[in-house]
Amino acid sequence: MSDAEVVRREGFPFVFSCKRSGNCCAIPGGFVRVTPADVAGIAAHLGMSEAAVRSRFVQPDGVTLKDGLGGRCVFLAEGRLAACSIYPVRPAKCREWPFWPEVLVDARLRELVERTCPGVVSNAQ
Ligand code: SF4
Repeated sequence: MSDAEVVRREGFPFVFSCKRSGNCCAIPGGFVRVTPADVAGIAAHLGMSEAAVRSRFVQPDGVTLKDGLGGRCVFLAEGRLAACSIYPVRPAKCREWPFWPEVLVDARLRELVERTCPGVVSNAQ
């Protein structure tokens, strides 16, 4: 997605335009869920076996990524603008941000999303 693209989803109370803050990849206490398909895609992208990706980047629970420095996502790269180092194959949960169904039923999560992400703008504004 380009920085300028504004994304809308039916039923969501906000629009989204990524500002590349990296905030969504570094939420304190946050975690990134991965599916088997996500792991397979990451492995192909990195030229690693799925077992090696799981060993190096996936928590023992098998369904969340390990943390990198300071609790940030292990794939969040340094730079002037935050960048996902596996952007073309980032997990489905990351591709769907911030349009998670849970946001519609969890007021605290919605507040967290709106406070954390400078690219989220309420429809009410
Ligand atoms: S995988 Fe990429 S997009 Fe997803 S949280 Fe990590 S750095 Fe961000």
